[in-house]
Amino acid sequence: MENEVLIFGHKNPDTDSICSSMVHEILDRKNGWKTKAVRLGNINKETQYVLNYLGIEAPELIERVEEGQSVLLVDHNEFKQSVEGIEKAKIVSVTDHHKIANFETSEPLYYLAKPYGCTATILYEQFKNLGVEIEKTEAVLMASAIISDTLLLKSPTTTQYDRKALEELTPIADINIQQYGLEMLKAGTDLDDFSVEELIQIDAKEFEKNGVKFEIAQVNTVSIEDVLKREAQLKEVIQKTIDEKGLSLYVLAITDILNSNSEIIALGEKTGVIKVAFGKELVDDKAFLEGVVSRKKQLLPEIDQNI
Ligand code: MG
Ligand code: MG
Ligand code: MG
Repeated sequence: MENEVLIFGHKNPDTDSICSSMVHEILDRKNGWKTKAVRLGNINKETQYVLNYLGIEAPELIERVEEGQSVLLVDHNEFKQSVEGIEKAKIVSVTDHHKIANFETSEPLYYLAKPYGCTATILYEQFKNLGVEIEKTEAVLMASAIISDTLLLKSPTTTQYDRKALEELTPIADINIQQYGLEMLKAGTDLDDFSVEELIQIDAKEFEKNGVKFEIAQVNTVSIEDVLKREAQLKEVIQKTIDEKGLSLYVLAITDILNSNSEIIALGEKTGVIKVAFGKELVDDKAFLEGVVSRKKQLLPEIDQNI
């Protein structure tokens, strides 16, 4: 595998990380370059829905990369969210829609960053710019990633570029966006057979600001109440994570994808940040944040600024 150029998204991969890696590989192949999409963690149920729909296999799982391994990053740049060994890998390119932090290379690279709602939207524009034909498989992969990251274009992260991409991908993907999208999102909310440990791991990201480490995890649901049935156990495992990783704050956002709100559970020595950031007092370590669905645009900037 060492000679192959590897493409991957972040740890605890979401639909954008998986689909954009796969789409990147397809685009590269169509351009005559040989690259390989891989993944840094389990496929979540939402992404599995997409792969089942297309009848295709998930990319291979990797644990680490060797020194000097050529890699293409999608949907992330922060080393904390990347593969083990990333510091000594050769980062050839980054295609991402997140803030740039804790990122450094020793050589020049391609860096394609756009503040869009989804990495797949950037890749969609790459197909257009390079004049490469978009076929059904990559159309479904890109449409699914856009639907996932923008919660069917309802998240405040959604841009006109995401709307346009999804609109133009729809006939090629040959899907009913509303129906397919809702089914796909709902597939991801089936949390019953996850242990609490697994549940907070589905979509957890670690951040660092001036040496202060914090983590924001998110789960999508159609019933916040349902997830809170395991509130006591969730708090227990969050506290354990804080102790093990030396975190100053842990925020779990339980996001109602139908009504576009989130209930957060916040633990750690820096929970005072929540009041400052969102004007809400924590009650029983919880706060209801109306209209908040995006970690990237609503939770992280406020927390990052005030921590
Ligand atoms: Mg992502
Ligand atoms: Mg993304
Ligand atoms: Mg996400």
